[in-house]
Amino acid sequence: MLKQKHRAWIEVNLLAIKYNVQQLKSLLNPATELMAIVKADAYGHGAVEVSQAVIEAGASWLGVATIPEGIQLRNAGITAPILILGATNAADEVKAIAEYRLQPTICNPKQALIYHEVLSMIGEQVAVHLKIDTGMSRLGVDWQEAITFVKLVQHLPNLEVASLYSHFATADERDRSFMHLQARRFEEVIATLRREGLTPPLLHICNTAAMMDDRQLHYDMVRTGLGLYGLYPASHLKDTVDLQPALTVKARITQVKEITAGTSISYGRSFIAPEDMKMATVAIGYADGIPRGLSNRIRVAVHGQRVRQIGTITMDQCAIDVTDIPDVNIGDTVTFLGGDSGNTADDWANLLNTISWEVLCGFKHRLPRINVTEAIACQQRI
Ligand SMILES: *Cc1c(COP(=O)(O)O)cnc(C)c1O
Repeated sequence: MLKQKHRAWIEVNLLAIKYNVQQLKSLLNPATELMAIVKADAYGHGAVEVSQAVIEAGASWLGVATIPEGIQLRNAGITAPILILGATNAADEVKAIAEYRLQPTICNPKQALIYHEVLSMIGEQVAVHLKIDTGMSRLGVDWQEAITFVKLVQHLPNLEVASLYSHFATADERDRSFMHLQARRFEEVIATLRREGLTPPLLHICNTAAMMDDRQLHYDMVRTGLGLYGLYPASHLKDTVDLQPALTVKARITQVKEITAGTSISYGRSFIAPEDMKMATVAIGYADGIPRGLSNRIRVAVHGQRVRQIGTITMDQCAIDVTDIPDVNIGDTVTFLGGDSGNTADDWANLLNTISWEVLCGFKHRLPRINVTEAIACQQRI
């Protein structure tokens, strides 16, 4: 088996990702498009394989953060339209976007004019997406200036306006008031444009949380990230659709050792054996994305049984308590997250006072991604 080679790895269940796309699509009108957000290596799941899977399952657009992320997908032969969500301002970036048929986000008049200048020079046309700031205050022109901005860009012959979009700051919160304020601002812009006969082909504002929360906000397309990977943006959105996590983190035992009461484990001696014990060393650490802040706080699975992680998690290795597991051997597999570990990215996020997005993006490239197509518990519901 290929897996035997690896000290630690991530298994990605592409069947779960396809199932999640179908579940999320069930919330949409048939005419509404699903843009799969595959930035940050598809939230740690492997951008190329995930992109191919989501397209097979019915996503029609892809969204990434950076130009290299878009180029990676084009080089893998992916032909779906790709939106770059981040800002791109340099002449070389404009040229790369034209060459690889990527579609940039245009956030202000100055950037639009840079695109105009470079594209006129190289004689290329690019489809662009105009970002309106309705309250996130990250990228985009203020909603009060949107009309002037749209008019400006529509007059630039090398820029073809493909969409107008905005982004919510609080879609995962129970209190919807700010989300609705942002939606009203977006709607005001659209109404004014319609009156002037200037509406762009596509309108979109939803991330996963907003699309789950309010069908009125779907417009022509939704931009779904987290949900594809089987996680809910918030606990109050869990009854919307059934989602299946797709990622499992595993590593191998490299040493098994009997220790006597009083023996300390790892840097700083944060764990001292209260009695005679059996410990195992596992070949995974914080350089792989197991956060050091979880030291002595999680359980992991060995032979289907949950055991304590003990001692400080180091860069490349950590220890577990296998006192109660008979026949533990070098080479045995330990599940840290997903699968039979009993741990979800939400559990770790709660322990670390962060969000599941950050836990998923934290797994490093040192961990090979292995695609598996395991039957999922709810598969019959597809
Ligand atoms: C990352 C991102 C998304 C996806 O957000 P999720 O909450 O993961 O669904 C959507 N839109 C923009 C602009 C983003 O940056």
